Amino acid sequence: MLQPQRPVRMDSGRFEDLPRIARRFLAYAEMDTASDPSSGASPSTRRQLAFAQILAIELREAGAEDVRVSNAGVVTATIPASPGAEDRPVMGLLAHMDTSPEAPSDRILPRVADFTGEPLRLDEAGERVLSIETHPELARHQGERLIVTDGRTLLGADDKAGVAVLVELAAHLADRPETPHAKIRLAFTPDEEIGRGTDHLPLEEFGADYAYTFDGGEVGELETENFHAAEARIVFRGVNTHPGAAKGRMKNALRMAGDFIGSLPKKESPEETEGRDGFYHPTRIEGSVAEARLELIIRDFDRPSFEARKRAVMALAEALNAVHGEGSVTADVRDQYANMKEGLEAFGPVVELAREALRRAGLELREPPVRGGTDGAMLTAKGLPTPNLFAGGLYFHSVFECLPIPSLEAAFAAALELARGSAELKAVRG
Ligand SMILES: [Zn+2]
Repeated sequence: MLQPQRPVRMDSGRFEDLPRIARRFLAYAEMDTASDPSSGASPSTRRQLAFAQILAIELREAGAEDVRVSNAGVVTATIPASPGAEDRPVMGLLAHMDTSPEAPSDRILPRVADFTGEPLRLDEAGERVLSIETHPELARHQGERLIVTDGRTLLGADDKAGVAVLVELAAHLADRPETPHAKIRLAFTPDEEIGRGTDHLPLEEFGADYAYTFDGGEVGELETENFHAAEARIVFRGVNTHPGAAKGRMKNALRMAGDFIGSLPKKESPEETEGRDGFYHPTRIEGSVAEARLELIIRDFDRPSFEARKRAVMALAEALNAVHGEGSVTADVRDQYANMKEGLEAFGPVVELAREALRRAGLELREPPVRGGTDGAMLTAKGLPTPNLFAGGLYFHSVFECLPIPSLEAAFAAALELARGSAELKAVRG
């Protein structure tokens, strides 16, 4: 098993006393696997490929079979069914190996600290401090050991925590062949953070009948619902003249764009919504008098209201055309991903198995709507029902990212109960 190279402990305990899954996580977290949206390659960065190779060694050592690394950097492996469970539907488990490019990731130095409830200084200078005051979720983790950063980089619990859970599961089941479970297929995908996580996972070859991602989230979370998402590109075409002789002739594309944005309901913006509320969100604008381009995203949980929002954007463009002349404004609206709730409806037993696994692991079940997309949503849309389970970390994509060790252990307990439950699952539809 890969060992952490630069273990630093802020508490007085010995490194060897940490649970094996925590040591596994520390070793993985030290490796920089940030993805890069500006790269067209798959995977987007060489460092992910290097990590994929190490992961393959780890999986073989853990007793997994049929371990493969594809050219695109996707690692797949099999945990064969326990005797008697060979005819059960095949369960897929996924985690993503890349970390976010939105925060620094060079020379990640994870540290272990006892969190007493007092503010925790991450860096020497004390400029980066984790405290309940600024990070209220930490109140639930008083008295726990946390894995934190040194205040310079992200930690990468998103999603190395998920990676550690799946490798640990392979090792655990290989050591305890008496544990009943169906055939399990594991997949570790690159480039999730840049929206390409499932692009190179051939579902046919993967061969799972249903799956779960372990990604993000607080203890006990099960995600079965996410946004419907669309993006709109709107082009405003004006007529430019010398401003001194513009009367009755000039049409200013910038003013049209301004009117367009001004007509969007302000209350239906990300800034003013939460929970199950949808929104319109202008994300980018550029242009001049002659032409302006606006990018806008549309989000909603509810299908009819999502469709209505798309129509409203088209209607706004039409209304401006009525004023400024046909062809002044064109809107191109495209779907990005769908709420997996729709796709999961036919797969009740798959969702129920996850709920039952969390209960059996002794966790308090929470099912918050995800105000974003997940790899599982993409897979569900492609026909592989894939809810998401928590992996235990907090404050992703920032230098305050941390991972309470009991949360990581809880995610592993949930994965083990999923495996056990898979031996009892006879059909995925119902
Ligand atoms: Zn993630």
